[in-house]
Amino acid sequence: SEILLTVKREHELTDISFNTWLKPLQIFSIQNNRIFVLVSSEQMGLTYINKKYYLPLKVAVAEIIGMEYEIEFVLPEQARKLKMPHPARQATTEEAERSNLNPNYTFDTFVVGNNNRFAQSASLAVAESPGEIYNPLFLYGGVGLGKTHLMHSIAHFIQENHPGMKVLYVSSETFTNELIEAIRNGNNTAMSRFREKYRSIDVLLIDDVQFIIGKESTQEEFFHTFNELHVAKKQIILSSDRPPKEMETLEERIRSRFEWGLLADIGSPDYETRMAILKKKAERDGFELSDEILNYIAVNIKSNIRELEGALNKLMAYVNLVQTEITMEIAQKELQNIISPDKPRIVTPQLIMEVVAEHFGISIEQILSKSRSNDVAKPRQIAMYLCKNMTDASLEAIGKVLGGRDHSTVVHGIKKVAEDVSADEAVAKTVETIKKKINPN
Ligand code: ADP
Ligand code: MG
Repeated sequence: SEILLTVKREHELTDISFNTWLKPLQIFSIQNNRIFVLVSSEQMGLTYINKKYYLPLKVAVAEIIGMEYEIEFVLPEQARKLKMPHPARQATTEEAERSNLNPNYTFDTFVVGNNNRFAQSASLAVAESPGEIYNPLFLYGGVGLGKTHLMHSIAHFIQENHPGMKVLYVSSETFTNELIEAIRNGNNTAMSRFREKYRSIDVLLIDDVQFIIGKESTQEEFFHTFNELHVAKKQIILSSDRPPKEMETLEERIRSRFEWGLLADIGSPDYETRMAILKKKAERDGFELSDEILNYIAVNIKSNIRELEGALNKLMAYVNLVQTEITMEIAQKELQNIISPDKPRIVTPQLIMEVVAEHFGISIEQILSKSRSNDVAKPRQIAMYLCKNMTDASLEAIGKVLGGRDHSTVVHGIKKVAEDVSADEAVAKTVETIKKKINPN
């Protein structure tokens, strides 16, 4: 890395160029006077790096090591063919591939927010004590919210911390295909090999179990596998797009077994979590984006984390290709297919009320109601304050929209929030966040 930093310094590279091209490089192997450098990106990246950074690297190596080395760039698939001793990190990646696990899906890279805190802690608990507390662990939630990420995290964690345990992660598809294959072969050995495989493990993770449940034959075999593992106190972890009680074709005896253990749902991420996920991913990829642009993505892509990442990847690809910093205009243009073209938002008291309600997880009816309990009255006052600050509605109009409150109530509410904002940093921050949600620009 000293070599890389030397190249950066001497050639006055921007952080973006450095992070994109040089930082990911890894020495794969050194043989005689040849250094094989692993390039993790595509062919295009390799060609480009070869053209642009071959010489600078060679010079820097000679300078620092005091000896001339030939430098060869290789892609991961070429490196595999070279059959040379792999550096340790490479080996773990390969191991992970063999067990169908994505090396990036770990607890470390999983951002915890209100939507997934329970699921994350349940997953970690199970990973720490497999088979001991919650069995099965049943994770459910919509598409792209992190179920697979959490399941891989559990598997990685167990592999690292309980090295003696046999962990098997399969998609429902794999499970089903293998089962159908065994049935089709029609002989007992095929079937018993299937059973042997699934019943001899310590931790079984089956992803998207809703697909197994739809089919009678697979449901039956699954049930037996489940029972045997469960009786033997082996850990079972399942994921599904919905909770057991909403799985119509699920047999009652299986449903009740799912509910023996722990059910944990993952919901849609709130604004703060979306921002945190974007920041973490950008940081990991060495990609610098202004808060304004991150905010633009977080505000417009709400329900699906995969899409959130897709937006970031799109911008990153653009930077790699065009070698320029991303401006708001470029971001808007590049993302217009992902982000439905939003008309510029007109800030109205109605909109403010909706955003405030969403933020605090209360209903519009509650804001409009007479309730004076703190968890309703506070948001209501914040809505008043924001209406005053962000629109030119009169105090009378604000009172009317917010459930027909009189002039003095509105004045009092606004004054109270203004005081809180200057006295209490947490309140100031909350108000700032809501403001951004209302008007991202
Ligand atoms: P699901 O299996 O629920 O459809 P995934 O686990 O495949 O969703 O998640 C979709 C993408 O979003 C993955 O790339 C995953 O890494 C990412 N992701 C989901 N939740 C988080 C999180 N809390 N922190 C970081 N990345 C996340
Ligand atoms: Mg998944």
